[in-house]
Amino acid sequence: MASTIIINPATGDKVAEYQRISLDDAKQKVEAGKRVFDTWKLKSYEERSLLMHRLADVLEQNKEEYAQLITMEMGKVIGQSRKEIEKCVWVCRYYADHGRSLLLDESVQTEATKSYVTFQPLGVILAVMPWNFPFYQVIRFAAPALMAGNTGVLKHASNVQGCAYALEVAFEKAGFPTGAFVNLNLSAGEVKDIIAHRPIVAVTLTGSDPAGRSVASVAGQNLKKTVMELGGSDAYIVLEDADLEFATDLATLGRLQNNGQTCIAAKRFVLLDSIYEDFLELFAQKMQAAVMGDPLDDNTYYGPMARTDLRDEIHQQVLKTVEQGGRLLLGGEVPLGRGAYYPATILADLKPGMEAFDQELFGPVASVIRAKDEEEAIALANHSQFGLGAGVITTDKARGERIALRLEAGSSFVNKLVASDPRMPFGGIKNSGYGRELSGYGIREFVNTKSIWID
Ligand code: NDP
Repeated sequence: MASTIIINPATGDKVAEYQRISLDDAKQKVEAGKRVFDTWKLKSYEERSLLMHRLADVLEQNKEEYAQLITMEMGKVIGQSRKEIEKCVWVCRYYADHGRSLLLDESVQTEATKSYVTFQPLGVILAVMPWNFPFYQVIRFAAPALMAGNTGVLKHASNVQGCAYALEVAFEKAGFPTGAFVNLNLSAGEVKDIIAHRPIVAVTLTGSDPAGRSVASVAGQNLKKTVMELGGSDAYIVLEDADLEFATDLATLGRLQNNGQTCIAAKRFVLLDSIYEDFLELFAQKMQAAVMGDPLDDNTYYGPMARTDLRDEIHQQVLKTVEQGGRLLLGGEVPLGRGAYYPATILADLKPGMEAFDQELFGPVASVIRAKDEEEAIALANHSQFGLGAGVITTDKARGERIALRLEAGSSFVNKLVASDPRMPFGGIKNSGYGRELSGYGIREFVNTKSIWID
């Protein structure tokens, strides 16, 4: 049987090796998930809520161990790994406390004696998840899905299988029935057979555009519902009235946190002409001052990328952009030595048609674009195949709000980095995907919205 070898991206050393499971074993786990579903769906919200709170407790109690695992497997700076676990705790508690009220029956006035809409669980949901937030992306799906009465199976990214198994164990420790949430250590190529397997009723995927297209098409052939949370190239418009210290602090954090590998990271900065050079000068100082290094060291600002192939890919994108006329202001050289490191990089004077304008850059590389006025800034921000998040930085909140409403994205934030929050829906438009996670909108993605009519 093949195995998955986990490499620490900071050192290049092998961390662990996990046996893949066979397709037959995976199918049996899915079938077991269906049997668990048949009893789990009958549990009261109180019973499910108790276990969801216990899961939050398990995550809280083991925060340091899980954080170390995240950092070892995908290179996230340790403080951010701890925060990732804290966010998982928040999401579990949010759905434990609100799952019931978010799925209350809705009475409808008709000529019937009684008519209403009720929300019932669907069955076993398959989650195909990425490595960039190896705990949080999974919990973001699993907490609402299981609170609604579904069960879940996980196809996690190959490079974070330790996190995947730790999550499976966490559900068991919390007291969820065995089989309610399981990890399937399969290759990406085997996912199509799992999607087609009868007990799977729906699929949620977070990841790249090609993975999304492939999974959505197989699910479509099998008439199974999907939610797709794909890439982004979020634009942040910086207006001429912005406080440039604040704007460049936000830009530096937005581009470098999680080592630049966040779907909703600030990736394109659209600056008004009058502040263009001043912003660039300050931004370059701050990006240069950010310390790249060992992700286990608390003083490190950003660590390595998750894999060397991803690092090499982004470097090619930088080189291509420079060939196309982009100005390399900072970084852009692969450092000598071990690990998947890539330095904070700024590409300026970008225009549509250039690689760093058109494509997602999933690493610590900022794309800077000049706009002659507000209208052109909005047009350039919207000139993208993606539509996940977007931002506006301004001291005039009303103006910021007007612009936020015109940005083509699933989330538009003013004076704050786009972030997911269990109280608000999260997801994209255009090639960033469809469907929503989190809040009441997220928990209703995987339910049967059922009409009841008593004549
Ligand atoms: P992928 O999108 O390829 O991987 C995400 C998940 O999908 C993994 O579990 C992967 O499994 C699985 N997968 C990949 N291809 C298929 C397929 N055809 N059918 C079924 N499952 C599949 O991400 P990569 O790790 O390759 O990263 C590449 C790029 O994806 C990044 O540079 C970035 O642009 C984007 N990305 C976006 C993320 C987001 O949050 N929106 C998160 C991560 C990446 P396996 O690991 O076994 O290949």
